[in-house]
Amino acid sequence: MRVSERVASLKPSGIRKFFELIIGREDIISLGVGEPDFPVPWRIREEMIYSLEKGITSYTSNYGIYELRECIAKYYAKFGVKCSPENVMITTGVSEAVDIALRAILNPGEGVLIPEPCYVSYMPLTVVTGGVAISYPTTPDFIPTYEEMISLANKAEENDIRIKAVIVNYPNNPTGVSYTKSVLEEIADFAVEKDAIIISDEIYAELSYSFKHESVASLNGMFDRTVVLNGFSKAYSMTGFRVGYAIAPEDIFDAMLKIHQYCMLCAPVTSQIGAMEALKNGQNDLEEMKAEYLRRRNFFVKRIKKVLEVRKPDGAFYAFPLIAETGLSSEEFAKKLLFERKVAVVPGSAFGDCGEGYIRCAYAVGMDKLREAVDRIVEFVESL
Ligand code: PLP
Repeated sequence: MRVSERVASLKPSGIRKFFELIIGREDIISLGVGEPDFPVPWRIREEMIYSLEKGITSYTSNYGIYELRECIAKYYAKFGVKCSPENVMITTGVSEAVDIALRAILNPGEGVLIPEPCYVSYMPLTVVTGGVAISYPTTPDFIPTYEEMISLANKAEENDIRIKAVIVNYPNNPTGVSYTKSVLEEIADFAVEKDAIIISDEIYAELSYSFKHESVASLNGMFDRTVVLNGFSKAYSMTGFRVGYAIAPEDIFDAMLKIHQYCMLCAPVTSQIGAMEALKNGQNDLEEMKAEYLRRRNFFVKRIKKVLEVRKPDGAFYAFPLIAETGLSSEEFAKKLLFERKVAVVPGSAFGDCGEGYIRCAYAVGMDKLREAVDRIVEFVESL
């Protein structure tokens, strides 16, 4: 075989596979892709354009622009974390940060506990690194528990697999569920008990509606065993600019930086300048987008509840209704909905086995489209 066996063993992303079907189809309303529908706030674009006019186009330091690292260190106090700019590394999106965090932490054969259902990159990136991905199911309420994690870790140990890291993502993609302090404490207790590192993907932190987001790194003693990941793709609609960051304790930070400097060198300079403007002056733009997501969430949940059971999302821009009672699998449901009613959603199975029986609906589309889409879903379910 010409390609690596590890890579060959990976399945293609279930989301991408599904969306190949609808490329170029104007007649379809998509609640599929997890991408904000707002343009990047003008003040951010303007600052980036201005930097280009000034000819600022070179590499930055491997760490990222120091002033941006300072802004992030200050900003994260909002989520309870006190850190120095020296703990902050600018990455090419959270995607890169997940990758280098795993590569920095894992030796081949070491285990990573990964929530299920979850964002699609955690498992493949663990496998490519040589780690062993072990899912911890969170259904039916989508909340992880200490008991479940401990029991999985003990089972792994019986097979000589030590759990080196645990990934958490809240507010969560695909469920929209977020974690209260008591849930974070359970995760922290697990990490301490098993001497594991927490990789906390907080990319939707700003889009928290039900309660204030708090970072797990803010809990007593947890900064030293947590790698916080966050970025600008979701909160500031900056998906195409590829800019995110990691906040990590010194030893893990240094290891991540070694990989980052060889594989990425630095995050795009123009995007870093945009990110700086976002943190300095973008709060109002963010609040406006957040208010609109909240309005859509309330509308969507109220309407869809007429026909499907759904847990009210605490954050992000996803709802994860239960479709099991229709008798269709999540893939059958999504395909039928697409072909018969021209609405695209993602089958829950794309997010791991325990996403089966659900569909993910992203309410990152304008109200008119959302209204039409939900009407079509309701009619579709009623027709089954
Ligand atoms: N983490 C989660 C939970 C996501 O939902 C996404 C994108 O959908 C990412 C990370 C990737 O973010 P970025 O655009 O910063 O690479």
